[in-house]
Amino acid sequence: MEDGYKYKGRRKRLIDLLREKGIRDQKVLEAMMAVPRHFFFPRDFADEAYEDKAFPIGEGQTISQPYTVAFQTELLQVKPGDRILEIGTGSGYQAAILSRLGAEVHTIERIESLFRKTTSLLQDLGYPAACYLGDGSKGLPAKSPFKGIVVTAGAGALAEGLKEQLAVGGRLVIPVGDRHIQKMVLIERLVENNYQRSEHGDFRFVPLVGKHGWSS
Ligand code: SAM
Repeated sequence: MEDGYKYKGRRKRLIDLLREKGIRDQKVLEAMMAVPRHFFFPRDFADEAYEDKAFPIGEGQTISQPYTVAFQTELLQVKPGDRILEIGTGSGYQAAILSRLGAEVHTIERIESLFRKTTSLLQDLGYPAACYLGDGSKGLPAKSPFKGIVVTAGAGALAEGLKEQLAVGGRLVIPVGDRHIQKMVLIERLVENNYQRSEHGDFRFVPLVGKHGWSS
């Protein structure tokens, strides 16, 4: 797929919109300017990739709205070299943004067809990310601790096991609520046994399905 002037122009307008909506982190905006979102769209719908909207990617799942991706990434405060876990690989777009920010990306998806397609797409596009197939509601203890964990599906409750997979100083960003609307929750691990929780507005995600999520 091509990334010509047409798409770059649309992407620039999208980034301006994200700035107007309150995204301040220049590195996040630069990463979103650099990664062509239409590469992560179903081919026939590439022209819709620069609307600030979620979009279906098959299997009843979605690529998140750009504002949501920017907001979650800003809350994570990613630095180059940070080991980050994403739960809910989906299209791979969020993983590509994290990779562009220089993170060591680990991403887990429960639906096999999405996992297969996205693993090869990320590889073909040159965004290094370790992709796993499985139930991310349990985290990825074998690769912990993480400087950041971002959950890109809506949880019914905070999965306590995820907090324990944070490094001291690490940040967990997770939407928590019911099946329809969630609060964006940030958990910061301040010291070994001290966590701080804050809430950052309402969002709408497809459900986190799994042992520590909803039943399918
Ligand atoms: N980050 C994605 C992107 O950039 O396209 C957005 C993904 S979509 C909003 C949420 C994804 O979470 C879906 O692909 C869904 O299958 C996945 N998911 C839901 N529950 C999961 C679980 N327990 N473990 C791993 N993935 C899960």
